[in-house]
Amino acid sequence: MFPDRGSNSSKLFDRALNVMPGGNSRHTVYFPPYPIYAARGEGAWVTDVDGVKRLDFINNYSSLIHGHCHPEVTAAIARQAGLLTAISLPTEAEIELAEIICARMPSVDQIRFANSGTEGVMMAIKTARAYTGRRIIAKIEGAYHGSDDTAAVSTYPHPGRFSPPESGIGIPEPGSAPGSAADVLVLQMNDVEGTRSLLRAHGTELAAVLVDPLVKNLAYQPASIEFLTMLREETKALGALLIFDEVYSLRLGFGGAQELLGIKADITAMGKIIGGGLPVGAVGGSAEIMSAVYDQREGKARVSHGGTYNANPLTMAAGVAAMRLFDRPAFERLNRLGDRLRDGLTAVVEATGADAMVRGAASIAGLFHARGGGQTYRELAKVRMDNPDMSRKAELFFHHMLNNGVLMGGPGFFILSTAHTEADVDHVIEQAGRALELIKAGKA
Ligand code: PMP
Repeated sequence: MFPDRGSNSSKLFDRALNVMPGGNSRHTVYFPPYPIYAARGEGAWVTDVDGVKRLDFINNYSSLIHGHCHPEVTAAIARQAGLLTAISLPTEAEIELAEIICARMPSVDQIRFANSGTEGVMMAIKTARAYTGRRIIAKIEGAYHGSDDTAAVSTYPHPGRFSPPESGIGIPEPGSAPGSAADVLVLQMNDVEGTRSLLRAHGTELAAVLVDPLVKNLAYQPASIEFLTMLREETKALGALLIFDEVYSLRLGFGGAQELLGIKADITAMGKIIGGGLPVGAVGGSAEIMSAVYDQREGKARVSHGGTYNANPLTMAAGVAAMRLFDRPAFERLNRLGDRLRDGLTAVVEATGADAMVRGAASIAGLFHARGGGQTYRELAKVRMDNPDMSRKAELFFHHMLNNGVLMGGPGFFILSTAHTEADVDHVIEQAGRALELIKAGKA
């Protein structure tokens, strides 16, 4: 049972605390009082160092589109590992992966690879600034786009420090350059008219609007079509670019969320699923815009894009294998599982009368312990304030799931992979219903 101070995981965590601040290198893998340590993964399953097997419904925060160690992906990695792992020469696999992604994504004619979504977003921002010759990047308050200073502005602003929404003023994240918010305009999610006037007021200096169409930090708040259409029209009219951060949302549509929504971005940042489970990031767009990235033929000073491990052969080989497997039938089957999960969770919320809501889309679901969402970071902060027991309920829910064979994202996320079956999904629904009952009865 979790937590168990005598477990191998707990002992490993105590050891880790001696040599790493917080005990590890990634804050999302920690859940109090200690994280469980993984030993191995097989398809939909993960086994921890105490020999406990659970269904993995995190899938490395979405990157494992086929779950763990899919035989074809593993074979591609093994084959490549026997040929070469890293080299200061390009390989054919890089072209292959670029071709697959460009063919799938209507707005992407050309692409460059990096090693994380953070870098993909950073390159998207640099490309937009270089291409337009302008400085301001607009982003949504509360949206997470990785650790780049510009992208990180106002990701987790403290409610006590909010500026008036019409000011667009953002707050640098701790450790960022103090001036990093000066070139950032902060928008409120789905506020069509407020955003329109803010963009227009900064029109001549606006390089780009950066948007994630389904913001995890905002309890999976989707950007409305009306909001996205306005962003598309306004950026075009103002001579600015529209950047879609599809690091997470790429799995929502066969050609990314853009294809699903019918909106064409100018620049797209990517990551996660395109690397077949290995570290990856990318930036893509039209050939015209991508020419702002260093172009040897012209010998001009453009956006510099080096990286010892960019397009490394292992990631490229894994990415090609994973993306080939993620064909239309696989994509559609996965989304049907997502529908089954959201419908099932909604049904147990209703049946138990729990104060909870179910959100998400395609192969992503979220269960949050309050009713009525709120669309903006500020509205969600208010929901949290009005429901002080939300985080306690989330913790009880998470522990129940963990102790009943389900590894999920702590705040309430479930991310599916093609390795999941209907029975796996039904197990989650059943246990979620049980957890909600126990929480309601005060017995969890
Ligand atoms: N953008 C979004 C929308 C993300 O979800 C993430 C990662 N969760 C990132 C950027 C950063 O990607 P990475 O962790 O690969 O740096």
